[in-house]
Amino acid sequence: MVERMNRRSLLKTLGLGCVGFGIAPELLAKTLELPSVDEKKIIDEGLKDYLEKIHNFNEPHPDDVIINSSTYSTFESTVLRLRRLQRLVGHGNFNILNFPDGLALARNYSKVGAFTKSELDFLELVFYEDGQRYGFMGQKPLKEITDQVKKKDVIKIPRSGNYLYKERSIEIYGNIKKELGDKVILTSGIRSVMKQFLLFLNKTYESKGNLSLASRSLAPPGYSFHGNGDFDVGQVGYGKLNFTGTFTETEVYKRLSELGYLKLRYPEDNTLGVRYEPWHIKISIDV
Ligand SMILES: [Zn+2]
Repeated sequence: MVERMNRRSLLKTLGLGCVGFGIAPELLAKTLELPSVDEKKIIDEGLKDYLEKIHNFNEPHPDDVIINSSTYSTFESTVLRLRRLQRLVGHGNFNILNFPDGLALARNYSKVGAFTKSELDFLELVFYEDGQRYGFMGQKPLKEITDQVKKKDVIKIPRSGNYLYKERSIEIYGNIKKELGDKVILTSGIRSVMKQFLLFLNKTYESKGNLSLASRSLAPPGYSFHGNGDFDVGQVGYGKLNFTGTFTETEVYKRLSELGYLKLRYPEDNTLGVRYEPWHIKISIDV
């Protein structure tokens, strides 16, 4: 197994010189007691900048944390290996593939190949880094890279390729299906640490190594409540648009909203550093 790295070494390894997450509203709130005119202006500008950054979540921002050139090739080879691993086990199985099992499979199948020492160090560093370094202000329900999804606790949802927790999620999903019938689909259920690594690092890769930009759309590994019961729903036939703001124009969204199912994890203008996600149903309690 890989050893846990010292957190501060991420900064060294990734070459992250300056802290860059703008001014978060939580921090601002502390300074809100009787601000002078100048302070008020600074606060307003910080908040405006923050909201602009979140509204333009897919655009780089000057404060973003980016993987530096000396780490880039390790990052790239890690992403490509994770993709090969997903191809090996299949999309559905990969959703609940645990980290240690994934490493073992990679070692045993030459199509994937064992993760190198530097790739494992990189994954550890990313996992144990404080998400606030990137601007992600949410909680971290999974504390260890080795946290497991246990097969006995989950159910595969037919035709979705996704799994849900028996205890936490299946009842509410069942109720949603009862109310909305075949129009609604589960677009993403449980995601293991390994799956969240792939999603987060894929997004980072598309964004030329911009970890902050990725974290505005996807929780860093460990921070996703998909590891803990939350799930995403969409409208059948709406495809990738289910993960955009226009999902709110669908009948499924409107019905879910009327029926009171939309307890959102990431509401509009949230202070967690995450874009508005009207499709993400909050199931699990905060940690
Ligand atoms: Zn989600």
